[in-house]
Amino acid sequence: MKKHNFSAGPCILPQEVIIKASEAVLDFNGLGLSLIEISHRSKDFVAVMDKARSLALELLDLEGKGYQALFLQGGASLEFLMVAYNLLEKKAGYLNTGTWADKAVKEAKLFGEVIEVGSSKDENFSYIPKGYTIPNDLDYLHLTSNNTIFGTQIKKFPKTSTTLVCDMSSDIFSRQLDFSQFDLIYAGAQKNMGPAGTTLVVIKEDILGKVTRKIPSMLDYKVHIDKESMFNTPAVFPVYVSMLTLEWLKNLGGIPAIEEINEKKAQLLYSEIDLNPLFKGYAHKEDRSNMNATFTLAEEKLKDVFDGMCKEAGISGLNGHRSVGGYRASMYNALSLESVGTLVDVMSELERKA
Ligand code: PMP
Repeated sequence: MKKHNFSAGPCILPQEVIIKASEAVLDFNGLGLSLIEISHRSKDFVAVMDKARSLALELLDLEGKGYQALFLQGGASLEFLMVAYNLLEKKAGYLNTGTWADKAVKEAKLFGEVIEVGSSKDENFSYIPKGYTIPNDLDYLHLTSNNTIFGTQIKKFPKTSTTLVCDMSSDIFSRQLDFSQFDLIYAGAQKNMGPAGTTLVVIKEDILGKVTRKIPSMLDYKVHIDKESMFNTPAVFPVYVSMLTLEWLKNLGGIPAIEEINEKKAQLLYSEIDLNPLFKGYAHKEDRSNMNATFTLAEEKLKDVFDGMCKEAGISGLNGHRSVGGYRASMYNALSLESVGTLVDVMSELERKA
């Protein structure tokens, strides 16, 4: 039986995507060859890369607006330093909303002055700082739209003329935003897009070429743009699965359609968390993430019973990150409303039993 997969990432992907991907591993396009044993320069694979790149821009409504989409390697973690390598000349601003933002800050400090425009460290990142000032002499401002570990999500982005960079690893393609407010977006594939191994980078071309340092080719966005994301051998399988997932999303009705489902899932779970006296939400209500819901048990002694009931119901991947404890239900695009319903049923059953 397929489990209800609440894993934070790598995580659930649409079942039809997994089936198509496994077929392509056996025989791709009827070539008598596997997807993973053909040249990345073959016309069949070049078509995959082109389609993945154009679907990403189409779904984000960024076509014809000066943006390029790249599928790179090295995870979102490599983007922490590539962003700074390519954009940081003197000074950059970072909003510190948790572990990943903090890691991005650490890398950027190797390249120039970094200021934290705001931080929620004082409350173990359970909220999104607001009302912070953005100095007008920044090369860019870096934000993390969704904080996977703490379960917070930026709902309102600052209006600024500063170059805006956003790590959207854990909520890209999940909600409608004016994506053109960002100059650079990056996201590891392994949440809403595909298997680990490739990172989507969407970049407004005119922000490049402004730093004076020399950039090694592999870390230079311009090189990857010029080579149409094929400067070196791309991660062929993760790019193919990402393409299939983006196709799946497009057929479903794109971001507006998935946003509606994601809202329903989040509302269902958070209302149970709020109504059930045995559970307590971790993040401040107004900053709650629709992707990762973090919560704890009011009485630790119920843990074994609750864990056993979850196991029985086929619920997997619910353990919280060690820096928060408790539970984290990740409700990425491919997770069904029915799976969230199953979790909510178990939570209310626990209340009846306790
Ligand atoms: N940023 C965010 C918001 C993440 O959730 C993660 C991974 N969970 C990363 C960055 C790091 O991604 P990677 O492991 O692909 O380097």
